[in-house]
Amino acid sequence: MQQLQDRFGRRFHYLRLSITDACNFKCEYCLPNGYQPQGKPRHLAADELGRVMAAFSECGTRKIRITGGEPTLRKDFEQIVELAANTRHIDTVATTTNGYRLAECAADWQRAGLQQINVSVDSLDPQAFARITGDSRFDLVLKGIDRALELDYRKVKMNAVLLKEHNGKQLPQFLNYIRDRQVDIRFIELMETGLHHDYFKQHHLPGQQIQQQLLQQGWQLDARDRDAGPALNYSHPDYAGRIGLIMPYAKDFCASCNRLRVSSTGKLHLCLFTEAGIELRDLLGSDQQQPELIARLHSALHGKHETHYLHDGDSGATPHLASIGG
Ligand code: SAM
Ligand code: SF4
Repeated sequence: MQQLQDRFGRRFHYLRLSITDACNFKCEYCLPNGYQPQGKPRHLAADELGRVMAAFSECGTRKIRITGGEPTLRKDFEQIVELAANTRHIDTVATTTNGYRLAECAADWQRAGLQQINVSVDSLDPQAFARITGDSRFDLVLKGIDRALELDYRKVKMNAVLLKEHNGKQLPQFLNYIRDRQVDIRFIELMETGLHHDYFKQHHLPGQQIQQQLLQQGWQLDARDRDAGPALNYSHPDYAGRIGLIMPYAKDFCASCNRLRVSSTGKLHLCLFTEAGIELRDLLGSDQQQPELIARLHSALHGKHETHYLHDGDSGATPHLASIGG
């Protein structure tokens, strides 16, 4: 089996698979006007998704994250989790969700094979949460996180996008939340996307500001595994949870890139912020096409660039992250 590898020696064992671009929230930095359907939904059917997962797993993928849009909007979400969990060689099945169904479904999803959950909560203040997401179900989302903890999911993480005016000063609230909860909070620096240049200018908060506060308060950087992705993780003996920082504008951020993305319509994205996607769908119709699909994945990897070009204000062809799966 030949592993997916690019010209810079990076190996890719992590697939982020988007299963829909639709969403029921209206996050200011993603879909501020809500999801606007463009004609009939064209997302991959479960059998096509199964073929994507099988091809990647034959090329060394060991972890699949099911994302979107909001992946749990799909009626067959649980079936897709099961498909991922039953794919040969896959040892970790994760999802990223806004959490609106988590309290109700966490047990069923776990039975289907889901092991890790990232829930997006950009503020622990219910009003700020509602302002950012356009949704008032803050309590339900937090109840879902507690339910996942109760069920002993292997990892429960909270994603918070750093936003100057909304949560820039809320580090104490987040720290308080994880004092006794085994939740890892990932602060994600806001990334500039095609439709949101002005929003980015107004709200971007460099992760280094949080990093400094953490270091001043005795948080320590954890050692990195050889295969670790780009997050920097911090721990503190007085806290049950950890903090991760994702700083895409930091030097060398792309050096540890270990992930590839497939959009809900079947396009391979080598980076969140470069090309418009390499078509795979024409090879997803039958199992007989798997060798050709695998060959296309390998040859596509030669085109992966060393870094993104966000520093130059170039966010590639990505209008917002819901479009290709964040
Ligand atoms: N709907 C799900 C959710 O919100 O968790 C999954 C898809 S969402 C696109 C995945 C992650 O990307 C979320 O944590 C979201 O906050 C983050 N995200 C979206 N747009 C972003 C941006 N412009 N910069 C940084 N993170 C962003
Ligand atoms: Fe929906 Fe997630 Fe985008 Fe928010 S970040 S609008 S929940 S896809």
